[in-house]
Amino acid sequence: MSRVLIIGAGGVASVTVKKCARLPQHFDEIYLASRTVSKCEALQQEVGADRVKGVFAVDADNAKEVEALINEVKPDLVINLALPYQDLPIMDACLATNTDYLDTANYEPKDEAKFEYSWQWAYQDKFKDAGIMALLGSGFDPGVTNVYTAYAAKHYFDEIHYLDIVDCNGGDHGQAFATNFNPEINIREITQRGRYWENGEWKETDPLSVREDLDYQNIGVRASYLMFHEELESIVKHFPTLKRARFWMTFGDAYLNHLRVLEGIGMTSIEPVEFQGQKIVPLEFLKAVLPNPGSLAEGYSGMTCIGTYITGIKDGKEKTIFIYNNCDHAKCNEEVGAQAVSYTTGVPAMIGAALMLNGTWKEAGVWNMEQFDPDPFMDMLNEHGLPWHVLECKRSYSNDREKKNEEGPRGRKLG
Ligand code: NDP
Repeated sequence: MSRVLIIGAGGVASVTVKKCARLPQHFDEIYLASRTVSKCEALQQEVGADRVKGVFAVDADNAKEVEALINEVKPDLVINLALPYQDLPIMDACLATNTDYLDTANYEPKDEAKFEYSWQWAYQDKFKDAGIMALLGSGFDPGVTNVYTAYAAKHYFDEIHYLDIVDCNGGDHGQAFATNFNPEINIREITQRGRYWENGEWKETDPLSVREDLDYQNIGVRASYLMFHEELESIVKHFPTLKRARFWMTFGDAYLNHLRVLEGIGMTSIEPVEFQGQKIVPLEFLKAVLPNPGSLAEGYSGMTCIGTYITGIKDGKEKTIFIYNNCDHAKCNEEVGAQAVSYTTGVPAMIGAALMLNGTWKEAGVWNMEQFDPDPFMDMLNEHGLPWHVLECKRSYSNDREKKNEEGPRGRKLG
């Protein structure tokens, strides 16, 4: 019998809960806890009390509160779908109770917009000694993109050299400005300096200052901006043959104009300001007035295309492949009442959890997704709504800068 405790009841959690609920063979009993218990109750009502057996209010910033909850529920696994700020308190509670742990985003301190794995990797020995497992970053990016990389390295190459993760949301939600997952976390991420790995070192760029117009499968050409994304850190560690690793995300002009204005007037700041006798954080206030990402699903059209371009050597020859998924916002809404960004995160969280619970991915310690055999995860992506495709590309992407001029001013396929 397996029992999971899911913490968080937002856009991503609602998808994971619904997907887990359909798979009693992996998830016998589901329990749900979050800061606002009414959101858990609403989800329980939607899914049924026979599948979501209990709901709880918890402040997951408080490790002792989470520990008490784990002692009450006694889950085999805690799925953390709250915010990155809660990763460490929830990991502490898992350690105190000898319980396995999974999340979709790496830890970030609330008072500093900085995300890196060092804080969670520091738990490696403690988790190993306790005989429990933590699976980090089981969403899409990080998550599926790490698994794509491991799959390519296993099946297509003798050695991988160049990696470009590309994330395009080609959808339209009809709002003037909205983020597709938690606005606070999203805006903190994209306003940071860009960073990529090249020839053994990290190189920095000004925020969103490097642009390429890339052509995405079944979407078309979109302006794509170089950003730092957490999976780069773990992938370059686990695939040391990589000479370069970069991450690109698409943003439309309207989105960037809104963002620049909001930044220009200080609304994206995380420094508290005095307002009518109390301290408020501008970005937290902004989150309160922006649309809830979970509410965007109705009427959202178009699709996402997220994938990894990998160039490497096979049998002495250089080649490039692209592994990707297209996910349709309207189909996700039809299936689980969610938009594609929540869906592409919530489904891999369910898959990672299922593989841990059935012992396929199971080893004491703290792990990133690319460290396990990718095949069972790739099979489950096909079975549970995120089918993937592999394109063998004609051109190498290793020396793209020199080739760019040959291809004219319009967008180009990376392959
Ligand atoms: P939401 O803001 O929609 O949901 C977050 C949930 O966590 C809310 O229910 C919120 O409660 C709850 N929460 C926040 N703080 C606490 C706390 N202290 N104690 C208990 N519960 C708390 O976010 P999303 O669903 O969009 O995102 C969830 C996670 O998924 C984030 O960490 C995000 O970074 C990650 N993510 C990962 C992606 C990937 O591909 N790897 C992509 C997209 C997101 P309340 O309702 O009270 O605010």
